[in-house]
Amino acid sequence: MRNRTETASRLLAAVALVVGMAASSLAGQVDSKWGIHDVNRPRPPIITPGTASTQDQPGRPPSDAIVLFDGKDLSQWQTPKGEPAKWKVENGCFEVVAGSGDIQTRQAFGDCQLHVEWAAPDPPRGKDQDRGNSGVYLMGLYEVQVLDSYNNETYADGQAAAVYGQYPPLVNAVRPPGQWQTHDIIFHGPRFAADGQLLRRARVTVVHNGVLVQDNVELSGPTAHKQRPPYRAHREKLPLLLQDHSHPVRYRNIWIRELGAANQ
Ligand code: MG
Repeated sequence: MRNRTETASRLLAAVALVVGMAASSLAGQVDSKWGIHDVNRPRPPIITPGTASTQDQPGRPPSDAIVLFDGKDLSQWQTPKGEPAKWKVENGCFEVVAGSGDIQTRQAFGDCQLHVEWAAPDPPRGKDQDRGNSGVYLMGLYEVQVLDSYNNETYADGQAAAVYGQYPPLVNAVRPPGQWQTHDIIFHGPRFAADGQLLRRARVTVVHNGVLVQDNVELSGPTAHKQRPPYRAHREKLPLLLQDHSHPVRYRNIWIRELGAANQ
């Protein structure tokens, strides 16, 4: 019996090794259409990179980004019911108006690079989850948390830059309330077969204030409070949503770059 168990566990280990090797060789696969250093291989498009933001001044987005807020108006945003967004635009930024509801982009997005700047209310008010809470919902379903986690105790998978209810950030890189902070997010949406079966989970990488805090984590499904609901088939592109959690969190300089077939 013991021998059989040992054989079985060795076999499992061997299978795991082969599967692991297959996965890693796939991940490192180079496009076989092109020889090494092939001079005929198309060059990547030329773009003008953006500039970094300071506390006083938002930076400039890369030239190929879709600008979702440039400091002027919320024309790219609406309520989930399709009404004009009711959040307040002021001094080059916009602010959550408590009780007016979430806002979402008019355009739908899937795989993307997203840049969001936010600032928690100063002076801070409340504690735990009831302090400077908002959220960036990729596809309206997968929340990267916005929260005033500065000198504010809360559960790990609910603090700023957490994938809410699933992954705490690797470190707490939050700035004090009132200061501008950045969430730079690389997101790959889930994939579903025609019959609704899950083919691939969503994956997210988050750099918070220049620090890697989510390293290509695989989501268990949509994010939610006190539950981890399973995936339900949805379209490859859905609107990006910002959460009204009844706190006057401010946002500025939001831009997005859609990721094409080449970098999925
Ligand atoms: Mg939130």
